[in-house]
Amino acid sequence: MPYVVMRLEHARLIDGTGKEPIEDATVIVDKAGRIAYAGSAGSAPQTPEVPARDLTGMTVLPGFIDAHVHFLFDPTTSGTTQDQALVTFQVAERMHQTLCAGITSVRDLGGLSSGYSTAQRDGLIEAPRLLTAGRILGHTGGHCDATGPDGYNPTARFTILADDERSARVGVRTLLRDGADVIKICATGGMGSPHDDPDDEDLSEAEIKAVVDEAHRHRGKKVAAHAQGTAGILNALRGGVASIEHGYGMTDEACELALAKGTYLVPTLATAFHPLDPAKVSPAHFEKKTRWADKTRENIALAINQGVAIAMGTDAGVSPHSRNLLELSFLVQLGMTQLHAISAGTLNGARLLGIDEFVGSVEAGKLADLLVTDIDPLNDIAGLANSEHIRLVLQSGTVRKDTLPAWTRSDADIQAITLR
Ligand SMILES: [Zn+2]
Repeated sequence: MPYVVMRLEHARLIDGTGKEPIEDATVIVDKAGRIAYAGSAGSAPQTPEVPARDLTGMTVLPGFIDAHVHFLFDPTTSGTTQDQALVTFQVAERMHQTLCAGITSVRDLGGLSSGYSTAQRDGLIEAPRLLTAGRILGHTGGHCDATGPDGYNPTARFTILADDERSARVGVRTLLRDGADVIKICATGGMGSPHDDPDDEDLSEAEIKAVVDEAHRHRGKKVAAHAQGTAGILNALRGGVASIEHGYGMTDEACELALAKGTYLVPTLATAFHPLDPAKVSPAHFEKKTRWADKTRENIALAINQGVAIAMGTDAGVSPHSRNLLELSFLVQLGMTQLHAISAGTLNGARLLGIDEFVGSVEAGKLADLLVTDIDPLNDIAGLANSEHIRLVLQSGTVRKDTLPAWTRSDADIQAITLR
């Protein structure tokens, strides 16, 4: 890593690993977009010709990772257009806003086609790096089957139905053929689905095992399970999924199983705590959600307390987009330390997504996915959710957002210079 393009100085560094902050830190980014150095100013290599930015009073953090979003949907717009060009531009705008809010990687768990991740990788759009599930796999009449008595299914485009182990395997193969990076299944019913409750089971334990086996056979792809009620959570855990999404019905038994199997929990509190407008949803949906709110607090607090591995996910699309980092303050409300919540949103998310080798923490050798905030997140974790406090966003070393004061040297000086 001989060429240096950027030097951040006098920042507080929270590197995402859970380590205590370094108060006077230097971060050096090289020409390849990698972190050449991240640590205390005292041990930093000298790079006198490199433009340096004085970040006194500011904090450097890893780019955040939201492990559960739905970019295709938006809770603030009711009627969605069928014009695919317009849909694509709307999604691209949501993605860009999310990137500017400090989220540099996401996992989209249903709705978005793999074309969006290709577009991101190819540099056609400025967006968080993206893993997509494509369609959601569940059983007939389950959480992802909204077919009415007239036979019309408004969500048919976003789902694959499977009712035995064989069709579950075919479903996984179809999704992988479509370019899925991760398989999303329903292990339970849900809040918004018309035919079931969170306590209802969706795919059976045997079907989940078949899904997990089929996904693993294809270059070790991972399975994320929508799982709210306890029975389905246990099925998903025994079935070997990588993550329990929502997990509102986590119990002692479920926590023990998750710990034994190394399964992640993605609590999506932003959605659990997002108030519903009774005028805009069905009475059944409103009643279900209200009934589950207290249980959720208790059970997620239990899982945090038991040390279950937690990755940050918001279900944005059901909750508002680009307010993703509000999730950190909800995790803190339920018992996490601020440092632990930041790790849940960075390194833990990277581990769950299988991208921790190159992102998720501010450490030498990793890609420079990082951000600078003008608040102290250890004193004001909720402040991170205000995008205005996210002053600089780098993704693989490329500046995606910059509202910091001007460089201490002129732009003409910004060139590759050999690191001494
Ligand atoms: Zn979701």
